[in-house]
Amino acid sequence: MFEFTSIEQYHAQLREGKTTCLQGVEHFLDRITSALHLNAFTETFTDEALQKAKQLDQKRKDGGPCGKLHGVVIGLKDVICYKDHKVTAASNILKNFISVYSSTAVERLLAEDAIIIGNLNCDEFAMGSSNENSAYGKVLNALDETRVPGGSSGGSAVAVQAGLCMVSLGSDTGGSVRQPADFCGIVGLKPGYGRISRYGLIAYASSFDQIGIFGNNIADVALMLEVMAGPDDFDSTVSQKEVPSYSTQLKTGNKKFRFAYFEEALNHPGLDPEIASSIKELAGQLKSDGHEVNAVEFGLLDYMVPAYYVLTTAEASSNLSRYDGVRYGYRTPKPGLELTDFYKATRSAGFGLEVKRRIMLGTFVLSAGYYDAYYTRAQKVRKLLFERTGQIFENYDFIIMPVSPFTAFKAGEKIGDPIAMYLADIYTVMANLAGIPAISLPLFTHSNGLPFGLQVMANRLNEVSLLQISNLLLQEKIL
Ligand code: GLN
Repeated sequence: MFEFTSIEQYHAQLREGKTTCLQGVEHFLDRITSALHLNAFTETFTDEALQKAKQLDQKRKDGGPCGKLHGVVIGLKDVICYKDHKVTAASNILKNFISVYSSTAVERLLAEDAIIIGNLNCDEFAMGSSNENSAYGKVLNALDETRVPGGSSGGSAVAVQAGLCMVSLGSDTGGSVRQPADFCGIVGLKPGYGRISRYGLIAYASSFDQIGIFGNNIADVALMLEVMAGPDDFDSTVSQKEVPSYSTQLKTGNKKFRFAYFEEALNHPGLDPEIASSIKELAGQLKSDGHEVNAVEFGLLDYMVPAYYVLTTAEASSNLSRYDGVRYGYRTPKPGLELTDFYKATRSAGFGLEVKRRIMLGTFVLSAGYYDAYYTRAQKVRKLLFERTGQIFENYDFIIMPVSPFTAFKAGEKIGDPIAMYLADIYTVMANLAGIPAISLPLFTHSNGLPFGLQVMANRLNEVSLLQISNLLLQEKIL
C-alpha cells in the first residue's frame, strides 16, 4: 500500500526499491477518483502522469540523475500556465483555453523531475475566500463537507488535505494560500513578493500576486520553494538575490527569536475568542521557552482591508481588460455587433458576478473624479505600512497573527454578503500589501472540531527564518 508522509520519506522508499513513481501516481489517481465529489480538480492529466512516472522509474533503474523533485506528484491551481494544457482561472471566459507556454514555476518543477497530475479548482481569477465563485462549482472541505475549504486556492488546499497529491501550488494575492490552508488544517506558504517568478501566473493584482505552496510539512514546502525561487528574465520584479538552500537550513539549534504581536489584532471584536486565546497562550508558551514576545503598537489594522480592495480591484480592472473576446477564450456568438457591443456581450456573459463586481469597483476607484480620494489614498496607506513593517522588523524576527477571524464556515453562509467576506481578509492582506513572506501553520483545533492556524510573517526575503521557526513550531507542536 502506497503511503505518503513526506518527500524525503518517499525518496528513501524509492531508493530502497520499496515503491515506484508509478505506484505513487496510481495511488493518487485512485484517491482523486474516490474524492471526485470534493470537486478539487478541474482536470487530471492521467495518461501523461502515468507515462512520466514510468519514464522516471526507468531513469532511476538506469542509474540516471534524479532531480530534487523526482516523482513528486503535484497539483496546479488553475491559474498557472502549463504549456499545451488547459488553464481557465475557473472562468467561463477562458473555458477550454490552452496555455501556449509554461510558467517559470512549472518549468522549474519539471526540470527537477516533478509529475504534474492536474489542475485545481479555485475562485474565478483568484477572487474570493470560499471557492464558491468558480465556473466549475464550489469545492468541499474534506473535514466537513458542508463547509467551505477557503479560497481562492480551495482546490489546492483540499488536494493536499484529502491526500490527492503530495504538494500543490496556489496563488496568494491577499491570503488565498494561507486562509484555505488554515481552513483545511495544512501548511500554506506565501513567499515574499518577488521570490517566485509570476511569469505564467494569470494576473489578478500584479503588485500583490505571488505563487504559494501547500504541503503537509515544512521540509516539503521548503524544497518546493528552493526549486521555484530565483531570478527570471521573464519577470523583472523577481529578486536578483541568490536563493538560499531552504531545505537544508531548517534547523535552528537553540536559537531564541523575537516575536511581535498586535493587541488590536488579538482583541479585535470580529475575532473568534477561542482563536484569540489560543494564540495568546502560544505567545505565553514561546515566552516561557526563552523567546522574546512583545505587543507592539501597529495602528493600521483597520486600514488594511480598504486599502487592499481599492488597490487590487484597480489593478484587476486593468489586468482583466485583455479578456475581450478577440484575443482570448470565450467570444459572444451574437452576430453583427459593433465593437463596443461585442466587448460588452462577451464580457457580460464570460465573467462571473464577483469578477464583474471587482472590475466595476476598480474602474470606479481609478476614474478621474475619484482617483485621489481612493487610489492615491490607498497607495499612501500602503507606503505607511511599508515603513511601519520596516520599523517592526528592525527589532523583531516575526509578527504573529491569526489567519482568519473564524474557522471554516458553511457553504452559502457568506456568499450573499461580499463586504463580510472582504472584511474576513483582515489578517492576511497585510503581508501582500507589504510584500513580506507569511505562512499558515496548522497548530490548533477549535472546540467545534475544526482546525485553525497560526500566521507567522517575516521580513522581506527572509523565508529562511520563517521556514526555520515554522519547522520548530510544527515539530514541537509546543502546546
Ligand atoms: N480573499 C482575497 C480576495 O478575494 C484574497 C484573494 C487572493 O489572495 N487571491 O481578494
